[in-house]
Amino acid sequence: MVPDPALTVSELFYSIQGESSYTGYPCVFIRLSDCNLRCTYCDARYTYEDAGRKQQISEILDFVKRYPVFLVEITGGEPLLQDGIYPLMDQLLEMKKTVLLETNGSRNIKDVPDGVIKIMDLKCPDSGMSEHMELSNLALLNHEDEIKFVISSRKDYDWAVEMLQTHILDIQDLQVIRKRPSVLFSPVTSCIAPPLLARWIRDDHLPVRLQLQLHATLWPDSERGV
Ligand code: SF4
Repeated sequence: MVPDPALTVSELFYSIQGESSYTGYPCVFIRLSDCNLRCTYCDARYTYEDAGRKQQISEILDFVKRYPVFLVEITGGEPLLQDGIYPLMDQLLEMKKTVLLETNGSRNIKDVPDGVIKIMDLKCPDSGMSEHMELSNLALLNHEDEIKFVISSRKDYDWAVEMLQTHILDIQDLQVIRKRPSVLFSPVTSCIAPPLLARWIRDDHLPVRLQLQLHATLWPDSERGV
């Protein structure tokens, strides 16, 4: 029998992917409730301030099936707080979906099924949450996965560069290099102008991608459902 537990869902919606290397593709989003962190710049407080609603996996998949697109993202909040996410990921993979998992970097990712693409935050100091990162996750990421640094200041930028040099780019082991994920630098636009971050990345010749939130450009007045 196929497992059909209930998860607490904040929202289900269909939109254009606004982040990661999959930016621009039509995508079904499964946003789960609750988060164990409290980032200073959080733009999804409703995921832990509102109650959310219980939905069986079968109901969530019925929503996914309405949209004949290849891409599905599970996000939050922090989606790995709910055990039901594991059978959900398995069943999405069985449907041959490309499954993106956005996780805040504080939860161990060892049980995430092979084939799920992990987009993992490394929280910078200005988030107030950098002490909560599970750095052992870095060894579990592969070349299809992505690490995201959300940057609010020069202090955050310098911290991110140091993390890159210490934990990611300086690794010389070939087996690890083959597993190296892409790295995204994304500005908190209320704190730092994107052209400034772009200049820093360019001037330092960093092998990272500048990421701007496409959905914020397309729908600047919408906080949910995009
Ligand atoms: S991890 Fe994400 S949802 Fe949780 S507080 Fe930080 S920004 Fe908000």
